[in-house]
Amino acid sequence: MNRYKEIRGKCSIYYFIPPEIVESNYDTGRVVITQESGGWVHGNRLTGYLSKLTKLTPQEYYDRYLSNYYKEGRPKCHRCGRELQFRSYHRGYSSMDTDCTKFTFCSQTCSINYRYGSPDDYKEFNEFMKSGGGAGMMRRDPNKYKDWINYVDSGSGWGRIHNNPEKFKPVGFRNPETLKLTHISNRKSYFINRGNPNDECYFYIATTQEDKFKFGITSNITTRAGWSKFKNYKILLTSSRVKVAELEALIKYELDQSHETLDFRLVGKFIKAYNKSIKNLI
Ligand SMILES: [Zn+2]
Repeated sequence: MNRYKEIRGKCSIYYFIPPEIVESNYDTGRVVITQESGGWVHGNRLTGYLSKLTKLTPQEYYDRYLSNYYKEGRPKCHRCGRELQFRSYHRGYSSMDTDCTKFTFCSQTCSINYRYGSPDDYKEFNEFMKSGGGAGMMRRDPNKYKDWINYVDSGSGWGRIHNNPEKFKPVGFRNPETLKLTHISNRKSYFINRGNPNDECYFYIATTQEDKFKFGITSNITTRAGWSKFKNYKILLTSSRVKVAELEALIKYELDQSHETLDFRLVGKFIKAYNKSIKNLI
């Protein structure tokens, strides 16, 4: 905590507007901000008071009083040198960092490219990305990625990756939420780009060899079922490629997971997600 910011009560944040930036006095009896003494204001009102009584923007205020950036210069992306985006005086500048570095980056692209560009420092990452960077590659090397495969097959939430950054380093990014959302939308585009948007496709549910409940999308249900040796399957929706892909993504967002298997005891949750998603399908 610094001397321009304090927490009052349980969670009210107050900021101090110092006298040297006050251009005109303000006094309502309850809030007093003057050129002699400055004044404290509630966190939600800081922007308003700054623009009314000073010449500083919230970003300039943050640089001067809530960080050292006024002296040091604003934080920049370690790869492209661009200034990081200013979020708010509460949150400061936004940056992507990664599992394996203390540097900040303006975007995930810069963070990834930086690691690509330094193959000696990020061997594991490069190996992972170059060989497909996905589940298939880890499955082809079950000894090396045993923990990851167990994790995915157990369908037990992203918490484990988050809590074991060392163990799950090959997955690449510290923020599992971002990774999950990216997975969902990548999977959707991948499927759509594999054919014509109007192809007849299927959204299905199935029982896997391992007795897990699975949902998924395919353009050829017979081949798909044979390939994974489903114990049984059922088509829930026959529609265009785009629509089934959209449906699958909506369900995943609803279930808050990027994989397609569930324990049978969670089928109720799936049905809820399915019903809600199909209503939202345009
Ligand atoms: Zn950058």
